[in-house]
Amino acid sequence: MVHQHSSLTVPFNKMNCKRFLRYRERVSVMGKTKHQGPVKLPKMPDPKHWVSMVPFGLGKVKPKHIRDTAKVVWENKDNLPYATRILTQGVCDGCALGVAGLKDQTLAGPHICTTRLNVLRLNTMPAIDKSILHQDISELRKRSSSELRQLGRIPYPLSRKPGESKFSRISWDEALDRIAGKLKTVDPKQLAFFLTARGITNESYYAAGKVARFLGTNHIDNASRICHSPSKTALKRSLGIGASSCNYQDWLGTDVLVFWGSVASNNQPVSTKYMYAAKRKGTKIIVINPYWEPSMANYWIPSVPDSALFGTKLADDVYQVNIGGDIAFMNGVMKHWFEMEKEHPGSAINRNFINEHTHGFSELKKHVEAQDWLTLETSSGLTKSRMREFAELLAGSESGVFVWSMGLTQHRFGTDNISQVANLAMLKGFIGREKCGVMPIRGHSGVQGSGEMGADPFSLPGGDFDSSKTRKRIEKTWGFKIPDWQGDIVGVSLENAVLPENHPRKLRAFYTSGGNFLETMPDPDFVKKCLESVDLRVHQDIILNTSTLVDAKEEVIVLPAMTRYEQPGGGTSTSTERMVYFSPEIKGPRMEEARPEWEIYTEVAKRVKPEQAHLIDFPDAQTIRNEIAEAHSVYDGIQHLKEKGDVFQWGGAWLCEDGECPTPDGKGNLLPIELPELRKPEGHFYVTTRRGKQFNSMVYSATDPNNSADRYDVLLHKEDANQLSLKEGEAVVVYNQFGTFHGRVRFANTRRGNIQVYWPEGNVLIPKGVYEKYAGIPEYNTAVVVEKAETYHAHKDTKYVEKRIEELETEIG
Ligand code: SF4
Repeated sequence: MVHQHSSLTVPFNKMNCKRFLRYRERVSVMGKTKHQGPVKLPKMPDPKHWVSMVPFGLGKVKPKHIRDTAKVVWENKDNLPYATRILTQGVCDGCALGVAGLKDQTLAGPHICTTRLNVLRLNTMPAIDKSILHQDISELRKRSSSELRQLGRIPYPLSRKPGESKFSRISWDEALDRIAGKLKTVDPKQLAFFLTARGITNESYYAAGKVARFLGTNHIDNASRICHSPSKTALKRSLGIGASSCNYQDWLGTDVLVFWGSVASNNQPVSTKYMYAAKRKGTKIIVINPYWEPSMANYWIPSVPDSALFGTKLADDVYQVNIGGDIAFMNGVMKHWFEMEKEHPGSAINRNFINEHTHGFSELKKHVEAQDWLTLETSSGLTKSRMREFAELLAGSESGVFVWSMGLTQHRFGTDNISQVANLAMLKGFIGREKCGVMPIRGHSGVQGSGEMGADPFSLPGGDFDSSKTRKRIEKTWGFKIPDWQGDIVGVSLENAVLPENHPRKLRAFYTSGGNFLETMPDPDFVKKCLESVDLRVHQDIILNTSTLVDAKEEVIVLPAMTRYEQPGGGTSTSTERMVYFSPEIKGPRMEEARPEWEIYTEVAKRVKPEQAHLIDFPDAQTIRNEIAEAHSVYDGIQHLKEKGDVFQWGGAWLCEDGECPTPDGKGNLLPIELPELRKPEGHFYVTTRRGKQFNSMVYSATDPNNSADRYDVLLHKEDANQLSLKEGEAVVVYNQFGTFHGRVRFANTRRGNIQVYWPEGNVLIPKGVYEKYAGIPEYNTAVVVEKAETYHAHKDTKYVEKRIEELETEIG
């Protein structure tokens, strides 16, 4: 029996009174107000938001939801009842918007999207055919990651040693003993763990974080390192929080909803339904992005009848900022506000909020006022008058929600980008109240929970790693000492693989749960070398990918993991808006030898230190949830999640409620942010990477449904193309000192001087080893030359390889 009290849907009868009172006390510190639960969409349509009277957007470039759904039904035809149960009972393992079954906490009515449908097959497919699995490795290597994925599930533990051309089947005992045997011999500083974000539950992250420390290493990292780590770092330093301060429901009826470097319509598709609901309540939607994203402008929302028929105009305005120009743009907006305040005090910023709830106003104002318009215009790519328009829109708004994603985070100044967003929000007082907030919208279901569970070199459950108070508290819970040295981020761990043999941090054993570094990290050739240089690599996964097939110096061991729907006792995941959802174990066919991820970690640990096995033993998933509740105070409540549909939101509806931030003195920090140096020599373009029909690096179509571009298209402004005498469809080479990308010109409405290529294909252009200094995210943007393929090839031996690349090194490096 599940009871609902406010937003908290947990079995209240199972909480003892004392604990409940403690819980309420803590929640009131985090936020008094509870989420109100799903609300209804208006019944009557409103034609003023329609894209056109032509039904179903016929003739327009747009996702084909019906066709895609039919394709998914066909793909899952061998397992349809199970697929249906996963969709109706499980918590989505796609993005972190968050949904249990087909219901979410924001809007009544069905919640489903093609991203979820596409990843569904990962959960329902049978094992890889043995004749293929044990093929010569050179044959397997001919397949792309998409083709490897389509082969099916990993059925049993596998091993491959140097000189062996095929994977051999090994027993679980052999696999665990060999891993444990190796781990006993390596220095803990030479061992690293990594966990991806798709499908992994809080329970597995927690167990992995604990096991890593039990084995003496702090080198444990997760997929947020390459997407949202700067969001957490910046929100912590600006507001004292590490997550979204608000809910999706705050989008509905807020005066202005800003999407900053986020294509939520493509990456979190059901967010378009929330945008629709927001527009119906009069919200203005603003998109800030170098490319005028077609799907953020117009969308045909399949679950909303009038939108499915006539489409919905989403963005009211698009500010096409330079790649990396956001800090300048935000400084420009603030500079306008300060000028407006001089002319008409009280016309732009929220003085009460600033005085009562922030520090650093005078420093910030002085810093912004000292900047000149020409620099701000050049850096942002936007004119002073455009910046004024946005400044006036925000100035006239009583409420606002800022949503962002990797367009802001994946820079070498990602943390600064996000602190600038926090600056804007604090100056307007858009924090800690209804219809206001800052929201790093997460792309994968595990991203929010992974760090919170401590699978992160900078975090332990409920606190920062560098806090001795947190370490002591967790040591008490765990009953063993946590190593006190700072662990490395995953990029550095990989680089450590090529350190000299006698180096104390040379990576010798790398244990990865999911993830494909060859496709997600910059400089794939270098990454391959790193993977090959490790003695032992363990790939705990449900499918093979190209990284799994790379050699290791001593052995590659592949362990078959269960999906979240197979794990006994179920599992939980935390959404962007801090809802902790329970996903039950779902009845259906099983991969006979696959094991729960959390169990595999603890089994390895027990074999490394059998004399201390009792310290790391988790008999079941419930025991892990009980311990999470103890180790991480805001997760108190997770232990009561047991049935389908159970959910609670940690921290209440709004973090920093009424402006009270969880900083030492309760105030937010306004921070003066320096303009980044944008390294783009004359004649070069900024390049950034984009996503098409894909989930993380898993590509589901060679064509982007939102603009019909091919994966190797280079999105370029028509006038830039004209200047280079390039025609649409013409072969081009995009290059810099890091790599060369061969593609075709596609005219696109992108800010002039900025181009886009698809990720991960475009990773060859990205420098390796350039990390953001606070959060360690790799830089995913750089400067490139675009040249006709014909000219490039005619001169490449003499002109480019020897002379031009040298020149580029001096210019960019
Ligand atoms: S929007 Fe995200 S959470 Fe919702 S169904 Fe799609 S992938 Fe799952």
